Amino acid sequence: MLPSDWMMNFTNILLRLIAGLFAPALFALELAPGMLKSGFAPISVVSPHNVGEWSIAAKEKSDLIEHFCSAVEQYFKKYRWQDDPCTDVPWQADYKTRSGHPLIYTVFGDGKEATLVLSAVHADELTPVPIAFRFAKYLRDNPGLYRNKDIKIVVAPLANPDGFLRNTPSRGNANGVDLNRNFLTLDWYENAKPFWQTRRERVAKHFPGYFPNSEIETLFQMKLIDDHSPDKILSVHAPLGFLDYDGPGDRKEVTLTTTERRAKQLVHAIAEKTKNYRVVDYRFYPGSLGNFAGNERHIPTVTLELETTDHLKVEEYWNKFLPGMLQSIHYPFTSYPEEKSGNATPFSVLYSASDEKAI
Ligand SMILES: [Zn+2]
Repeated sequence: MLPSDWMMNFTNILLRLIAGLFAPALFALELAPGMLKSGFAPISVVSPHNVGEWSIAAKEKSDLIEHFCSAVEQYFKKYRWQDDPCTDVPWQADYKTRSGHPLIYTVFGDGKEATLVLSAVHADELTPVPIAFRFAKYLRDNPGLYRNKDIKIVVAPLANPDGFLRNTPSRGNANGVDLNRNFLTLDWYENAKPFWQTRRERVAKHFPGYFPNSEIETLFQMKLIDDHSPDKILSVHAPLGFLDYDGPGDRKEVTLTTTERRAKQLVHAIAEKTKNYRVVDYRFYPGSLGNFAGNERHIPTVTLELETTDHLKVEEYWNKFLPGMLQSIHYPFTSYPEEKSGNATPFSVLYSASDEKAI
């Protein structure tokens, strides 16, 4: 071997050695960012630290609601619903969704007996959307229903606007989370994911979220419950065709407390006004509203499952279910404070601005 060859070989080996030494760094620099991008999906979640980012500033509120209402109206036309969804209803909104839509609600009356009406948590179910918007208008047009009656009605007609305002409406929100599985219930960590992974539930549209309360729409519902302390909740879904009752005494046959007994009477009273609509004692799910509000907080929670998601059946359903919906707001029910459950840290404590500063 000539000295020059030896030198070349030596240089070659040295270069390879250096390259070898720096390979991990080069790999990290050139490839890792790509891997990180594909390996860790960016998720948009709400937490006590960032809840302010989801709030609507006072100055943008009315424009945002107006713009939202025109968008909703376009979809009403698409589904051949004749109503003008929003006009003249005093809508309010405190939070906006990942797609920037306001989470609207409206309040009628200021009495003690409060009813919360929630609709379209599953936006692909369609029929509850116009029914709830129309219910808000009906209450606006008939103040005699609540004025001087010591009652209050809160209506949130479209709890999942991101799922509704898209070409093909979806059950989940913009993050693909099933909002009726995302509430922080005592069984969430133990059961929500395993339950989702069982044969019946393992479809993407039932995804409960990466962790509970990760979605602004869930917190929106929690805040309505916290702010208005409803004595009962009516949640409108489709298409299972029954009234389901989640609350104290659900799936319990004997030794009902007074609250439990009265809560069960409520669901039957609604059914009576709805041509004896079928009442079932369906199970509740980890992270569901019925579990969170009904089971754990002892707020009687009735799910009205309309019979189909057929958007052309709205007139029929309106005539059939209005008397039951009115019954739900008028049925006297005041829960006993001592029966409220333990897992009930108020929203205002968990997600207040002052908390954010303290952390
Ligand atoms: Zn549903």
